[in-house]
Formats: sequence, structure tokens, C-alpha cells
Amino acid sequence: MTYAPLVPHGDPPRYFTFPSLTALRVAHATTTRHFDGATPFRDPSGPFRLEGTSGLDDAGIDLSRAAYARQMHGAAVAELTGGGFAGEVDVLATKSPGVPLAIFTADCLAVTLYDADARALVLAHVGWRGTVRGAPQSAVAALERVGGRAGRTLATIAPSIGPCCYEVDEPVIGDFAERYPGRWDRWVASAGPGHWMLDLWTANEELLMSAGVARERIETARLCTACNADLLFSYRKGNRGRLVTVAALP
Ligand SMILES: [Zn+2]
Repeated sequence: MTYAPLVPHGDPPRYFTFPSLTALRVAHATTTRHFDGATPFRDPSGPFRLEGTSGLDDAGIDLSRAAYARQMHGAAVAELTGGGFAGEVDVLATKSPGVPLAIFTADCLAVTLYDADARALVLAHVGWRGTVRGAPQSAVAALERVGGRAGRTLATIAPSIGPCCYEVDEPVIGDFAERYPGRWDRWVASAGPGHWMLDLWTANEELLMSAGVARERIETARLCTACNADLLFSYRKGNRGRLVTVAALP
């Protein structure tokens, strides 16, 4: 199977990388079900289980230094200079080299923003609620607050649920219509009375572009978690595990 534009690592893959971030020497990864170094978030020792695993050492990521949050499906930001618990936020931003920022998902989008000139990095957790609450715009604003510029940033969107599988109903669409009048209808396809297929990939690409990110600098994996639930974790498919998307500044 081909996963382009993603590069798989391991057989079966333990994690994926984006060639665009690798070319800029950003250590990063999005894990699969075959990565066994993540634990349920409520574990008081933190979300990683490193003993007895190789973690993500081979990706150049030291998970023992990672920053992580209690993700709230909102748009709040934490600016970080070190690892550990970052609070109740969905956007993590840093200017500090070597501090891995970690986002946990199972269908939601993990968005990474990197400005190589400013050496500024942001990771964001974005589902439908985060999209409605402005998480992608908040991620771009966070990048600019730590010295980056939207017009220079590379953006990647990790494997997440696609428009093929993401059926939603009236309450969700009502929130989109209220928040994004005149735009939301481009992000949905009808799935019968009162039901729509929602394309969070296109929605987030367009919202990032509206915030100043160049279209040609947005790289979306377009690998659907629900279509590939045997490889990835999909909440919609009943999986309770989480994929970890992590990146650190060079
Ligand atoms: Zn799908």
C-alpha cells in the first residue's frame, strides 16, 4: 500500500512522517496502532510509556521531554519553553529547540505549523468543535506570537477522518452555518435528509489560507482514520486508543 505523501516507518508502519517537514530537519512523527508507547491520558505518570519501548528515538524525538495538554476541543493556546503538562488547551506553541509538542487524536486533525526562518513551531488538535471555535486561526495567531509569519509557514495535516466517513447531523451543521456563513456549504455533501458528510480537511485548509498560509505550503495526508481503522485509531470505528502527532524544533 502507498501512503503518499506520507512516508511509512516500519512494516507494519509504527509511524509516518511528512517529507516536507523532514526536508526542513524537523524531527516529527504521527504514530499508528503499531506504536505502543502511548498510554491513556488519565494515567498520572503522563501519556507516554517509554520503558520497554523504543519510543520515537528513531524519529529523533525524545518523548520524555514532550509537552502535552488536556485537549478540550477549543482554541486556547499554551506557549511553552519546556515539556510536561501544558494545561487545558488545544494549541501548543514554542520557540525552544528540542522540545517535542505532542497532540493526541483519533479522527480529529493534528495540524502542524512550522516557520523555518523564525524557527517557530505550533501543533494543534482540531475536530469539528475546534474548527467551529477557530482552532486553526488560533494556531496561526499563536505562530505569529512566537515570532513566525503565516505567509512563510509550512502546514501539515496528519491522518484523520475524511469526508468519505464523517457523517454529521443538524446540530453540527447548525454550528458551522452560524460560524461560517457562506462558506460552510463548500465543506459538506448531502447524505440524505438532515445528514451531511463533513470535509474537515478542506475546511481547515481554507481556514488556514484565510489566516495567511499559502495553499502550496499546506500538505494534507488525506489518509482517513475510519477507512484504515486496522492501522490507525478511529473513534468513530470504536477505537479508544490515540494516535500521537509530535514535532520538535531543530
Ligand atoms: Zn474514510
